[in-house]
Amino acid sequence: MSELNTGMKIELDDGMGTIEIIRKLGEGGQGYVYLVDYLGKQMALKWYKKGTIKDIDIFRKNLQNNIREKAPTKSFLWPIAITRIYYDTFGYIMNLRPADYYDFSDFLIGKTEFSDVRTMIDAAINIVDSFRVLHNKGFSYQDLNDGNFFLNPQTGDVLICDNDNVSQFGEKSGIAGKCRYMAPSVVVGRKTPDKRTDQFSLAVVLFLLLIRNHPLEGEQTQSKAVMTEQRQKRYYGEAPVFIADPKDASNRPVKGVHNNFITRWPQMPDYIKNAFIKSFSKEVMCDDKMPVSEKEWLQYLMRFRAEVIVCPECGKETRYTAENVPCICCRKPIAHIGWIQTPYYRIPVFPKQKFTMAHVTDCYDNNECRTPAGKVVQNKTKTKIALLNEGSEVWTSGGSTIANGERILIQKGTKIKIKNETVEIK
Ligand SMILES: [Zn+2]
Repeated sequence: MSELNTGMKIELDDGMGTIEIIRKLGEGGQGYVYLVDYLGKQMALKWYKKGTIKDIDIFRKNLQNNIREKAPTKSFLWPIAITRIYYDTFGYIMNLRPADYYDFSDFLIGKTEFSDVRTMIDAAINIVDSFRVLHNKGFSYQDLNDGNFFLNPQTGDVLICDNDNVSQFGEKSGIAGKCRYMAPSVVVGRKTPDKRTDQFSLAVVLFLLLIRNHPLEGEQTQSKAVMTEQRQKRYYGEAPVFIADPKDASNRPVKGVHNNFITRWPQMPDYIKNAFIKSFSKEVMCDDKMPVSEKEWLQYLMRFRAEVIVCPECGKETRYTAENVPCICCRKPIAHIGWIQTPYYRIPVFPKQKFTMAHVTDCYDNNECRTPAGKVVQNKTKTKIALLNEGSEVWTSGGSTIANGERILIQKGTKIKIKNETVEIK
C-alpha cells in the first residue's frame, strides 16, 4: 500500500513534527500530492509511489541537502521537510501553489492566456532569472519540462515545482527527464544532465512559451504515423533538426499543424530569432558548442520587453524599434516622443513605460530584472512628460536629487545619474 488516507498522521524527519493528511489533491506518474495540516498550516505533501525511486537512500540524501540549502528564490516551491519512511516509501512537504497560478501546459493548449505580450515576456524573464540563480548556486535542474511550471497569467510570476529532482553539480538524481525537453546529448546517452543540458531545456521552454510549438517538431515528426521509441531517439537525439534551421529545410512547419509557429515566428525580433537559431543549431545540439547563456537570454528578453508598447492610437500592443514606425495592428504612425538611453538599452519613452535596474546597470545577479527603477508619467493635460523614481536609488540630475516617489521633467538632453550610470533622454 502506498496511498495515504484522510486523517493519517505522518512523522517528519529530524524532529520536525507531524503532519495530518486532509485529502488527495492529485496524482502523477511518480507519486501523489496531498493537502496536509502542518502545525495548523495547510501545505502540500508529495508522496512517492512505492518502487518509483531507484535508490531511496541516495534520493533522500539529495533532498535533505536541498532542504538545508533552502530555495534559491521565491519562485521555487522548494522541499521544506521530508517524512520518515512508511511502507518502503516517503514524501516531502512544500508550500501550496496559490490559486492564481496555472499549469504551463494550460498555456500551451490555449486553455489559459497571458493578459498581454509584456506579461508573457515577463514570465520568460522570470523563468530565465530563476534558472540563473539556481545554476549560480551550483544546482542543475535535470528534469525541466512543462509539468514543472506554474505561471500567473496576470503578473507573469513563475512558480517552479518538482524540485526534488534538482541536484548540485556532479550529483545525479537518477531522473532522466522527458525526451522532448532533454538535450540531444542526454537523449543519446553521451552526457549526463548538467548546467549546459539544462540550458538546452530552458531554450525549449522559452520557445514553447513564445512560439507555442516545439522547436524540433515540424514536417519530420509529423509525417509518419506512430512515434516509436526509435523515432523519438532519432528526432530528439541522434539527428535533431530545428523547425527554422537556416541551413537545413528538412523539418519545416506543416500548414494546418504548426500554425502557431507560422503566425508567431515572424513576429519575433531578429535577436530573439537568432538566439533560438543558435540554441537549436547542430553545433550546439550535436557538437556541444556553447549554448545561449542565461545572461544573454535576459539581455534579449529585457530588450524585447522594453520595445513592446501600447499604441496610443488603437490601444493594442505593438513593437516600437525606430522613430515613427507604424503600429503593427492599426498601421497608423506612432508619434515619437524620445528614448531613455541607458549605457546598455534604448527604451522608447511612452506613458506608463517602466524600466528596471537591469536596464540601467546590466547586472542580473540580485533580481535586478524585477527591481523597479523608473516609470514614464504624464501630467493630466498630457503636455509634460516626467520620469517617476520607483526604485530605492536616489537619482541626481543637474544638481538636484530625485528620491523614490519623486519625479523629474524630461526633455531631449536630460541626463540622470542612477547608481553610477548615466541615463540620457535622446
Ligand atoms: Zn495601433
